Amino acid sequence: MPNLSLTAIVITAALALGLAAAPEPLSAEPRANQLFGAKAKGSRQASQAFGAYNKGCAAGLMELPETGPTWQAMRLSRNRNWGHPEALSYIARLSRFAAQQPGWAGLYVGDISQPRGGPMTSGHQSHQIGLDIDIWMLPPKRLNLSRGQRESLSSISVRASNQRGVNGNWTPQHAAILQRAASDPAVDRIFVTPPVKIEMCKTATRSDRDWLQKIRPIYGHHYHFHVRLKCPKDSPGCVTQSPSVRELSNGGNGCDDTLMWWVTDYLNPPKTTKPTGPAPPPRRSARDFTMADLPRQCQTVLASN
Ligand SMILES: [Zn+2]
Repeated sequence: MPNLSLTAIVITAALALGLAAAPEPLSAEPRANQLFGAKAKGSRQASQAFGAYNKGCAAGLMELPETGPTWQAMRLSRNRNWGHPEALSYIARLSRFAAQQPGWAGLYVGDISQPRGGPMTSGHQSHQIGLDIDIWMLPPKRLNLSRGQRESLSSISVRASNQRGVNGNWTPQHAAILQRAASDPAVDRIFVTPPVKIEMCKTATRSDRDWLQKIRPIYGHHYHFHVRLKCPKDSPGCVTQSPSVRELSNGGNGCDDTLMWWVTDYLNPPKTTKPTGPAPPPRRSARDFTMADLPRQCQTVLASN
């Protein structure tokens, strides 16, 4: 008998005995976003964030009440108004401050996380561990919007159409709320459109500017700002985000050339004569993650009641 057939017989026998498993085709592995997206409620576990903002999940998330004394959760159909208790108390205190600003009844709150965090079927790469909060730039006139109105109402952009400055929707109240938002010790960083940071660098007082370091320029983010909270004490498995080189180039508050890059070279890349190197490998989207990509505790979070 030729060797090849013998090998085949041995493998067949091993499979029959359960000694070796046939490899699963990759496509059969369920996507983590489908598994997490199917959960309607948080897990009945102690609150804890696992993994990173863009690769993780969370146990014991709480639902942000759809309407609070000084906020409303928007786009309820998405069921993304779930957060770590630290996120919910942060929203309560920031919205209380916002409600003291002229023209602001409080805050309209966009996405936080899915009930158990994890990757999402649409939209964000982050917001996976209950510690990212989107807050609308639209000043709430009232806090009694119906479910339907919360689906149809849109936020407003505070960025000029040439993307180099803020527009007429920007007010001193936006600046006051963002300063307060960044000054909260629970905050790691806040993402905003670069023109907002440029404006705040111009108008912040000379004596109190440390909080400006936490206001970080990024593409998009002109209809909402994105608050990222630090890893809470109850979450040793939560991974703090490391600062990027561009963000902290001079160890200062970021009111410098790296900020102006966003409204110069970023918008209008200079022509280069240097040959460009090979393109970096494409970053894997959170939408492609399987459970094997996430911290192992996420299995328990998913399986929990
Ligand atoms: Zn966001």
